[in-house]
Amino acid sequence: MTSVERIVDVAIVGAGFAGLAMAGALRRAGRDDFVVLERAADVGGTWRDNTYPGVACDVPAHLYSLAAHPNPHWSRTFAPGGEIQTYLRDVAARERLGDRLRLRTPMLGAEWDAADAVWRIDTGIDAEPLIARSLVLACGRLTEPHVPPIDGLESFDGPLFHSARWDHDVDLTRQAGRRRRHRRQRGAARPRTRPPRRTRDAVPAHPRVDRPARRRRDPPQRPRASRREPRRPRPPARRALRRGRRTLRLALG
Ligand SMILES: Cc1cc2nc3c(=O)[nH]c(=O)nc-3n(C[C@H](O)[C@H](O)[C@H](O)COP(=O)(O)OP(=O)(O)OC[C@H]3O[C@@H](n4cnc5c(N)ncnc54)[C@H](O)[C@@H]3O)c2cc1C
Repeated sequence: MTSVERIVDVAIVGAGFAGLAMAGALRRAGRDDFVVLERAADVGGTWRDNTYPGVACDVPAHLYSLAAHPNPHWSRTFAPGGEIQTYLRDVAARERLGDRLRLRTPMLGAEWDAADAVWRIDTGIDAEPLIARSLVLACGRLTEPHVPPIDGLESFDGPLFHSARWDHDVDLTRQAGRRRRHRRQRGAARPRTRPPRRTRDAVPAHPRVDRPARRRRDPPQRPRASRREPRRPRPPARRALRRGRRTLRLALG
């Protein structure tokens, strides 16, 4: 789509895994009249935004890839986030999405026009809405970082950031003292180190899963007579043979 094209067959919102997969499927089906609206400056979604140390997928990367774009080059079974981000950029390039991608273009709202059977999409960029016959929402579910209401968060004077917006300029090795000082100032109790006592009737909120006790490695001992394995019964053929021999011995004297 060019900047003058205001009517498309399909408008996809989001250029993460889902949006890129949809765009690729349309391309391969020969339906080229689509556009991908992405509010950020790059594709990748989750994997563009999450860059915290150690970020990686938690399902094997060979399964966490698009069927149309298998990747034999994953460096690890649980590929690092940066590698997945590179993979998604590569998918966009292989699907030749460059001219279909509209980066830095948010969908601010969409209205269904029943009379013309089209969506009117407000991107806040152009005066006129974008018009699409079909609208595909691939906006993700974890795109908005949620900061939990942690007690004392507002008075903490150290650097604060969500793991989905990691601040790589912060040296975390220097932050432990600041955290201790903050806790002291607020007079917060030391964190419990002992688990609460359990009564017989109490049902724990999270049932404890004890590891099986480790078996002591004792020196090998001969089994006591009572613990020895019972003798295996002799096969009937051998028993009959022995009986026959005994009879013969008796007959011969
Ligand atoms: C740290 C982390 C690890 C994860 N690991 C795994 C894993 O191992 N396995 C697994 O199955 N899942 C995992 N997930 C879940 C992951 O989010 C999904 O697997 C997948 O990446 C979601 O893709 P998506 O395209 O649906 O959404 P997203 O990747 O969130 O992409 C949505 C895109 O839509 C854009 N967007 C949103 N709203 C608008 C708007 N109004 N206008 C324009 N653009 C918009 C966003 O900017 C974003 O680029 C993980 C998630 C996180 C956060």
